[in-house]
Amino acid sequence: MDNIRKENPKEIIVGEEKFVVYIDEDKLQNRVKELAEQINNDYKDKFPVFIGILNGSFIFMSDLIKSVTVDCEVDFLRLSSYGDAKISSGKVRMVKDLNCDVNGRDVIVVEDIVDTGLSIQYLGKLMENYKPKSVKVISLLLKPDSLKHEVKIDYIGFEIPSKFVIGYGLDYAQKYRNLRSIYILSENGA
Ligand code: 5GP
Repeated sequence: MDNIRKENPKEIIVGEEKFVVYIDEDKLQNRVKELAEQINNDYKDKFPVFIGILNGSFIFMSDLIKSVTVDCEVDFLRLSSYGDAKISSGKVRMVKDLNCDVNGRDVIVVEDIVDTGLSIQYLGKLMENYKPKSVKVISLLLKPDSLKHEVKIDYIGFEIPSKFVIGYGLDYAQKYRNLRSIYILSENGA
């Protein structure tokens, strides 16, 4: 099996489906820097804890944190909702809890994408139990037309249409997280 692809492919074929570049590497990097600057400004006298939601947020979190210039801590929490398909199971469960104590801390939850809002709503309730001083949410992507739950996202990278996307941490059946750009499912199949 030929398992090698070019570093920045224009399209990705998965069976009958085709994904095309939607947000390229430069655009992503520039926007991530802008978001970090906003956070630097908002948290200049604070010592926030960034909580990355695994697995999808790991690349975004890593790039974001490199442009954050305030002292901060980092931890991860893992949720499971999608399994290996493109459709959410509609149920969220925690698969890995926090290692740090966020009681009295300024927490910034880092998500890859908000779709229906179910995960963020679940996280909001979970965080309440941990009694942080404040909680803000940053998401690289938001599908505004897919929202089914009332959620407040404090920092948004890009609003996108309600279509499946992959790359830059986001998977399709656990693959394609290592793509440098965000790819969107094309109307015209493979
Ligand atoms: P929500 O709970 O808001 O419906 O969904 C949030 C989670 O669903 C995200 O953290 C992500 O794991 C997954 N998700 C939602 N939309 C997409 C998408 O277009 N592509 C991928 N790869 N995952 C998605």
